Amino acid sequence: MSKTEDLFGTLRGFDLGNGRQGALYSLPDLEKSGVGPVSRLPVSIRLVLESVLRNCDGKRVLEQNVRELANWKPTAPRKEEIPFVVARIVLQDFTGVPLLVDLAAMRSALARLGKNPKLIEPLVPVDLVVDHSVQVDYYGTPDALRRNLDLEFKRNRERYEFLKWGMQAFDTFRVVPPGIGIVHQVNLEYLAQGILSCPSTINHQLSTVFYPDTLVGTDSHTTMINGLGIVGWGVGGIEAEAGMLGQPVYFLTPDVVGVHLTGALREGVTATDLALTVTQMLRKAKVVGKFVEYFGPGAAALPVVDRATIANMAPEYGATMGWFPIDEECVKYLQATGRSEEHCRIYENYYRAQALFGIPKKGEIDYSVQLELDLATVVPSVAGPKRPQDRIELPDLKREFLAALAKPITEGGFGRAPAEVGKTYAVSARADLHPGGGSQESVSPREAQAQNTNLLTELEMANNRPTPDLMVAPGAGHGGQIRHGSVLIAAITSCTNTSNPSVMLAAGLLAKKAVERGLQVNPLVKASLAPGSRVVTDYLSRTGLQEYLDQLGFNLVGYGCTTCIGNSGPLPAPVDDAIGKYDLVAASVLSGNRNFEARIHQSIKANFLMSPPLVVAFALAGRVDIDLSREPIGQGKAGKDVFLKDIWPSLQEVRNLMHAALMPEVFRQLYRDFAKQNPKWNEIPAKPGNVYQWDGHSTYIQEPPFFQEFGFQPAAVQEIKGARALAVFGDSVTTDHISPAGSIKKASPAGKYLIERGVAAEDFNSYGSRRGNDRVMTRGTFANVRIKNLMAPGTEGGVTRCFASKKCECAPGETVPIYEAAMAYQKEGTPLVVIAGQEYGTGSSRDWAAKGTALLGVKAITAQSFERIHRSNLVGMGVLPLQFKEGTNAQTLKLDGTETFDVLGLGPGLKPQQDLSLRFTRANGQAVTVPVTCRIDTPIEIEYYQHGGILPYVLRQLARAQSTGPGATAIA
Ligand code: SF4
Repeated sequence: MSKTEDLFGTLRGFDLGNGRQGALYSLPDLEKSGVGPVSRLPVSIRLVLESVLRNCDGKRVLEQNVRELANWKPTAPRKEEIPFVVARIVLQDFTGVPLLVDLAAMRSALARLGKNPKLIEPLVPVDLVVDHSVQVDYYGTPDALRRNLDLEFKRNRERYEFLKWGMQAFDTFRVVPPGIGIVHQVNLEYLAQGILSCPSTINHQLSTVFYPDTLVGTDSHTTMINGLGIVGWGVGGIEAEAGMLGQPVYFLTPDVVGVHLTGALREGVTATDLALTVTQMLRKAKVVGKFVEYFGPGAAALPVVDRATIANMAPEYGATMGWFPIDEECVKYLQATGRSEEHCRIYENYYRAQALFGIPKKGEIDYSVQLELDLATVVPSVAGPKRPQDRIELPDLKREFLAALAKPITEGGFGRAPAEVGKTYAVSARADLHPGGGSQESVSPREAQAQNTNLLTELEMANNRPTPDLMVAPGAGHGGQIRHGSVLIAAITSCTNTSNPSVMLAAGLLAKKAVERGLQVNPLVKASLAPGSRVVTDYLSRTGLQEYLDQLGFNLVGYGCTTCIGNSGPLPAPVDDAIGKYDLVAASVLSGNRNFEARIHQSIKANFLMSPPLVVAFALAGRVDIDLSREPIGQGKAGKDVFLKDIWPSLQEVRNLMHAALMPEVFRQLYRDFAKQNPKWNEIPAKPGNVYQWDGHSTYIQEPPFFQEFGFQPAAVQEIKGARALAVFGDSVTTDHISPAGSIKKASPAGKYLIERGVAAEDFNSYGSRRGNDRVMTRGTFANVRIKNLMAPGTEGGVTRCFASKKCECAPGETVPIYEAAMAYQKEGTPLVVIAGQEYGTGSSRDWAAKGTALLGVKAITAQSFERIHRSNLVGMGVLPLQFKEGTNAQTLKLDGTETFDVLGLGPGLKPQQDLSLRFTRANGQAVTVPVTCRIDTPIEIEYYQHGGILPYVLRQLARAQSTGPGATAIA
């Protein structure tokens, strides 16, 4: 129970609809009291304002913060930071495990210093959903789900034991175990309440204060919950930890872009097409770091599931949020997903009492910018081959793919000679793979079938690992031949789409029509279906559509992120060999939201995002160099051509089945006691105790070095002198490049480390699953096989030229793995810098991208621009983000990484966004100094930086604020 402050006199009662009264902090009353024109503010800003008002205690949140935000101006310069106290936190396991490792390490540090370790305790509810670990090893069989789950538990047992320790050690930490769903879909369907309450004493009387559900999550697609009118976004694990420990999440007051939606989607167009269209449109409109708020009649007519698909992709358009206001559709969704009638009534009454209910009309709100989109103009689309914002209208895909194939690598293409286009290659289990020499059309259906039959036997013999019972697909696609543009992965994956029954039912209906017409999927295509909740299985089974998906190889493989996060699992070895040997630009098609290089699969270079029904369609076609509006998708019964329009389901057909997908009792049943329904999880033992007993031999969980030499006084901020460049990068280096989540190569520093500790290569698991071990992760930093360090031209992968002079075995300037160079520099005490281009750190929020950078010894990153979360994570780890001035970059300054660097002007009086000087001295002795902007953006970030990062800052605050002893409690 909390004692309630009411510094603005806005606390009042409202009708709960059950004969009782609740209390709320009234925004209309705040406006009436003359504090600011609240009712003209974007609705998302008003929800943040409610939090600032309710948490205004004159200490963490000041009266000035309330006044500033209540007077938000659409186009003012953005200097003020907002202290946002969120109601809860969601985590996924890749980011959640390292976060729990940090909390455990903080407890260990306090215990070593003689303080009470229980000072470290989440102060808001924390839910971790285990969804990122399952991998598609088995597919195309009815027992693929069980077998993948078995492997998942085998591979991740240590991590899961650690999570179970966390569940008993922390009071407010819950875990949704593996095999239940994907974090954002589980959040939508189950965790999110829309409205929360806590008992409070008001004027010495007990009452219940109600407040909006708000959150941050350690996953960039946390924004999916914006589709249900809930304010929340992705933050780095480092910020989430601070949020858990009672720190507000600080962010610069944002611009709010209003997107006025009108019209309705046409026949044949899906919510995915709309999301890809919005992504492209908003990328162009430069909404990075802004709130996007949808409004108007088009928004009001969209169901929550469609809104959630659009909101999910906010990170792809660069916005902090892609938010839809609260209205009747939200109430309907909460009811349909099993939330109680009483809860829904309170929810609606609360938002009505706050004048926050309903989608605004044009002219009612003052937005920073207003954009227009008529939903009727949206057309079927895909996005790729490398970026989610590169939308392609469906009929143009063939032309665009062929153009990308021919385009030089320096221009972002694949650089293939025209003579290579259309050339096919046989896939063989033997070493003597040979080019097919000729077009796919030169292989007759009979030959193709024979090749397939042989291929299946070869695949099973060749793979010393799980091999699917592949189907033979006479006459379909390429037979045992592949070429540039062959579809080798087709995945119905990702919360983006699997949370939306309309596109999932459309995929099932399309599969049904395809099977009925005799179409089949080529066995070379690795097809999979991995929904974000068991509800999907329920309705696909209830409607009889799963059996058709099964017949095309889209068997259920798991409930988790799978292909979307890069856990697509291995391709059959002969297929992978053929891709490598002939350097083929093979394709994946997936219903995910990201397609950066090497994210989906290390061997697949062209990755296209699309709706689930289009995933099935391209699996049937077997290639992406096809115009599905004119060319047949394949030959059906009696060799008859079948076109996409023949099997595309109508809107009415989908609508007829929607009732099966939103049945409250199904949601209630499937989310009731889910932990108990998972015997494998129950078998995992939990270590007892408040302080974790670290096992020095574990290759999954290790105590990180962040607090091992922790003292109560931070070291003074000093200039950086004599630094060396660890890397010089071009534009769009993603967090996946910096800290890959996917597989660990045997020959990489991380692979060697694991082998030295007796881990067999098949048990390496992924980088994502090893984030509890800093030794693996530091070695994996900048280890993406596709990263290009311009210091070592012509190379790909995590290498650099090393100029360490002392204690180093390699010759000066030799090209070595980045980790080895960093260690050599550390030995001689040389600080490091990284130089980069535009959008440094774009992609998923990934705190290890900042942690690994810090542990390699990088003190500053100078880039042309930064992605929002990664920039703040760098500060959170004590790494200085510096930004080149407009018109300056590594190329204009002719930096090649042979220089030494000094960052001048750093000192105790550092100010947010102040100018500093970057001085570099070339190998020939010429010194050049250029101004750079220090991208520490807010006063609180200055404090974090002065403390060496956010976690030492919080730990020092807690240790200072509390006395030791068994009675000590966490600060609020
Ligand atoms: S399915 Fe994809 S977008 Fe969704 S949580 Fe998993 S990785 Fe993120």
